[in-house]
Amino acid sequence: MVDAVPQSFEYVLSSMCTEPHPDARIAANRFLATNPGDPASYPEIATIESEVVDRLGDIVGLPEPSGYVTSGGTEANIQAVRIARNRADVDDPNVVIPENGHFSFRKAAELLGVEFRPSPVDDDHRAAVDAMADRIDEQTILVAGVAGSTEYGRVDPIPAIAALADEHDLHCHVDAAWGGFLLPFTDEDWHFGHAAIDSMTIDPHKFGRAAIPAGGLLVRTASQLDALLIETPYLESGHQITLGGTRSGAGVASAAAALAALWPTGYEDQYRTADQLARWLADQLRDRGHRVVDPHLPIVAASIEDDTFAALRDRGWRIARTARGELRIVCMPHVTRARLAAFLADLDAVQ
Ligand SMILES: *Cc1c(COP(=O)(O)O)cnc(C)c1O
Repeated sequence: MVDAVPQSFEYVLSSMCTEPHPDARIAANRFLATNPGDPASYPEIATIESEVVDRLGDIVGLPEPSGYVTSGGTEANIQAVRIARNRADVDDPNVVIPENGHFSFRKAAELLGVEFRPSPVDDDHRAAVDAMADRIDEQTILVAGVAGSTEYGRVDPIPAIAALADEHDLHCHVDAAWGGFLLPFTDEDWHFGHAAIDSMTIDPHKFGRAAIPAGGLLVRTASQLDALLIETPYLESGHQITLGGTRSGAGVASAAAALAALWPTGYEDQYRTADQLARWLADQLRDRGHRVVDPHLPIVAASIEDDTFAALRDRGWRIARTARGELRIVCMPHVTRARLAAFLADLDAVQ
């Protein structure tokens, strides 16, 4: 087993993860045996974690950020719902989440005993804010928007969702798990500086080029994290806000290394390359007669016959489909023009 090798990224076209930055790999290895969950025993990695949070704050328009490096977007979304639930004073809490929201919100709702209320999206796969408003009642504790949706790379109207939250005095969460390292280079309004949002998910282990596991939860004010405090009798630190106990120092250190290497110019170059590639691929697929969902962020969704999809999987392509059955290609940094050309050649050969 120690001789086993992982997949090559050459055929991976539908993943939201990618090859870590070389510095991130080195840092992950170096800090493999550290535990930021016990900062009194492992203060070096705890210091690095607070540096990561500060740097993420720069990305999301938060001059004095609070938060921590989670195991991923799932944990960050769960914790955001937990903050809202613990701060609210209602008997039968519910959360209103647009249908393009990630399935982790369903996990959060189930775990936390909160009703999950999906809300429809518009024709362009973005949250319909009027429909969200219709679903809010006295028991609602949180509304969320997605900034870079998993299936179509759409950005919900975050300022309008934040205004709705403000009107009803609700926690407003933004899920930028995947989009957070792309959106700084667009003219979208998505972060703490653009709207009165309370918390955000942003994952270094996706477009941030950190090693897994490195997600991020950020909140506007430190006191929001008090809602997560649990006493830890046998740890010197005395209390914990994280969902995990023992945590990965590798993820934290690799996030720090990736951010140091890439923010901002490296990430900007990465965004521009991916954006151009997605547009090119969309044109290529359209030319072949596929119906393509116009890419906003670098995800291309296109109609595909079941047989064609299966034949491409048989040829080794690691591709996946949207809930509606479209082929979905995520132009992560390992996805190059040459690899997409090889994919298109196979597509031409099988259909
Ligand atoms: C990937 C993703 C998540 C879940 O993150 P994990 O790191 O897989 O737990 C949540 N929301 C969005 C928008 C995502 O793209």
